[in-house]
Amino acid sequence: MPGVANDPYEVLAVARDADLDTIKQAYRQLALRYHPDRNPGDGAAEERFKAISEAYATLRDPELRRRYDSVGHIGRGPAGTQPDFSHVDWRVIFQEADIPMDWSRRGGVPTTGSFVFDALFRGMTTMFRQAGLLPGEDREVRARVDLATARSGGSKRVHVPGPVLCSACRGLGRDAGGVCSMCGGSGSLGRGLDVDVTVPARVRGGTRLRLAGMGGPGQPPGDAYVRLEIEVPSAARLEGRDLLTEVHLTPLEASRGVTTDVLGVRVRLPPGTHEGQPVRVPGGGVGGDLIVTVRIDTWRGLGRAAMDVARKAIGALRAPAQLPERKRR
Ligand SMILES: [Zn+2]
Repeated sequence: MPGVANDPYEVLAVARDADLDTIKQAYRQLALRYHPDRNPGDGAAEERFKAISEAYATLRDPELRRRYDSVGHIGRGPAGTQPDFSHVDWRVIFQEADIPMDWSRRGGVPTTGSFVFDALFRGMTTMFRQAGLLPGEDREVRARVDLATARSGGSKRVHVPGPVLCSACRGLGRDAGGVCSMCGGSGSLGRGLDVDVTVPARVRGGTRLRLAGMGGPGQPPGDAYVRLEIEVPSAARLEGRDLLTEVHLTPLEASRGVTTDVLGVRVRLPPGTHEGQPVRVPGGGVGGDLIVTVRIDTWRGLGRAAMDVARKAIGALRAPAQLPERKRR
C-alpha cells in the first residue's frame, strides 16, 4: 500500500507539529480533490485517495502518530512494509472528517444525504472493500425446492454469485501450502461459489437461510442469504403451511368413494362426496394440512361414444382437449 511507505505528514501536506484540527482539514480537502468519482478511471487518484485516508488514520491516532514519529513507520517488520490498518475503524475516520453516514444498512453503501460525499463514498466503498477495510456486501439468492424436499427436508445446491470471499483461505489469499490455489491469492472468487444448503423439514416458503461469511469480500465479509421458494404444481397452491388443490372424480367415484394419490399423499374420499366439498388431510401440506376440493367431472364419467357425440354437439366452441382429458391428480 503506497500510503505506508509515504510520510503521512507529506501526504497530507501538514507540519510535523500540526494539531488534529489542521490535519483533519487537510484530509477533508484532499479527500474531496482525489475521490475516485471525481477522477473516474484514474488509478493514480485512487491510490492517492487511499494514501491520504491511511495517512489521516495514522496521524489522528495518538499511539500510531507517536510510533511513526519515533521509528518512521507504523508497519510490522523492520522496514514497515506490512502496514497494519486492521484495527482501524474507517467509519470513525470518515465521521471525524465530518462525513456523516448512515451505516444502518449493514454491508450496503452508506448514504450521507450529500451528493458529493455519497458519490465519494460509492467509489471508496468498492476500493476499501477490495482492500478488506469495510464490511462486505450481503448477497441474496433464490432457490426453488420441490414439494418432497420442503416436506421432509434435504439438501439443495445453490450458486452464490461472485465476487465472494474465498472459502478455502477465508480471504487471506494464503494457505498452509503458500498462495491459495482456489483463488490464486486474491482472497475472493469472482465466479462465485456453489454451496449445498440444508433445507429444514416442513420449511415455510420464503424462509431465508443465512450462510455466514459467504457474501462479498470485506472486513467482516458479508453474508449470503438463500431465500427458499417452494415449487408446487400449477394446479396447487400454498397458503401458509397448507397445501390446496382440487381432485377430479367421475360421478361414480364420487358416489362410491375412492382412495387416490394427491400430491404425494394418500387421500381417502368418502362415499357420497359432492362437488366443491373440501377434504382436509392433516399433515399433508408443508408443515400444515392438505386441503383437497372435490370436482365432479361429468364428462369423464361418459363412455367414449357418448363423449364424441357430446363433442360434436358442442362444436368448436371449446377445444376438445380441454374437455374430458383433465389430468387426474
Ligand atoms: Zn483463497
